[in-house]
Amino acid sequence: MDVSTLHIGGIELNIFALLGITAILGLVLGYFLGKRIPFTGSSPKQSNPPEDYSVFLEGIQYILANETDQAIETFSRAVQINSETIETYVTLGNLFRVKGEIDRAIRIRQSILLREKVDQATKLQALFDMGMDYKQGGFLQRAISTFEEVIRRAPKRLDAYKELEDLCEDTHDWQRAYELQKEIRKLSNTNNQHIMAHLKTEQAKVEMERGNLDSAHGNLKKALSMDSTCVDASLQLGSLYWLKNRKRKALAIWKKLIKNNPRWAHVILLRLEAQDGMPSDETMVLEFLENVAEESLDPLARLALARCFMKRDKREQGLASLRRALEIKPDLREARKILGEVLLERGDERALLSEYRLLLDHLGPVTKCYRCQQCGLESDKIVWRCPGCHSWDTVQPRMIASD
Ligand SMILES: [Zn+2]
Repeated sequence: MDVSTLHIGGIELNIFALLGITAILGLVLGYFLGKRIPFTGSSPKQSNPPEDYSVFLEGIQYILANETDQAIETFSRAVQINSETIETYVTLGNLFRVKGEIDRAIRIRQSILLREKVDQATKLQALFDMGMDYKQGGFLQRAISTFEEVIRRAPKRLDAYKELEDLCEDTHDWQRAYELQKEIRKLSNTNNQHIMAHLKTEQAKVEMERGNLDSAHGNLKKALSMDSTCVDASLQLGSLYWLKNRKRKALAIWKKLIKNNPRWAHVILLRLEAQDGMPSDETMVLEFLENVAEESLDPLARLALARCFMKRDKREQGLASLRRALEIKPDLREARKILGEVLLERGDERALLSEYRLLLDHLGPVTKCYRCQQCGLESDKIVWRCPGCHSWDTVQPRMIASD
């Protein structure tokens, strides 16, 4: 997708065209109001000269034709002609941001903030826009302090809370993001429990890495009390018990998780595969795997189960699981790869040849296993927060190429 396009309700809109429409409304309104009401605090002024207005129209035409450079040049000229027209500044700043010219966008916001004759609401918006400029430019700490200032000046401004919260997630400040979600909930009365559960889970992961298992446990319990269906929280709770050497408890949690969330069974089995086991645990783990094999599993879960069996030298069970995965999804490349490796190791030429033929039959384009239901981003690994649209729980496993 082009960075300058937006998708709203299935309609593709050019961002410059959107800015253009906003500019037209703002400028036309500003022009006519300007004729009647002098700008706040300024001395009564004369109406704009006609050439001034035609410069705006020229700029808007460039925006609609997607000729940003010419639009910027024209609006810059308009600003020189009539430096009181604040909407032109705002539009120009937004155009610079879209073009990635962050320094210039910020200078425009600063010039608005420093003007004495500009009202507080416009200055507040300029501050907010500056936060957006910093965010887009990747100056995350500056963006954070700018949105903090917006909230200090306007404690009920929901969009500033949302931007600040998003930045705290980007910088992995999970505790603060959680506190901000509480504020967002109060202001907007929306149900964001599933996000808050993820934030507590992320905090628990950090605590686990630091060895603070009790604190991690508290965070995971809190997460599950807010959203008992949070897969990542239960997955992590299992890992925590595993780490505490309470493996039976860990397996019980994961077993329940697989039963209740067959779509995510593969993630749970991959987690188990990654855990280090003691020889004394093997009987318990094998019993778990054999129980799981009885469940109705999708191909990704069958593949993950096969890997768990293989890791424990249970070749036959592993092969059986791989073949069942390939029966349902013959183009599951990873499964074909492992199968080929096993046959190579065995020196089973006849079976290898037939596998190779099947592999050629299913050599299609590589499809990624996960897809965001919100923005369409595709990923090879599971992410609970989409790196594209920053939404939680929108990335889902895809089983069929047309998903
Ligand atoms: Zn997304």
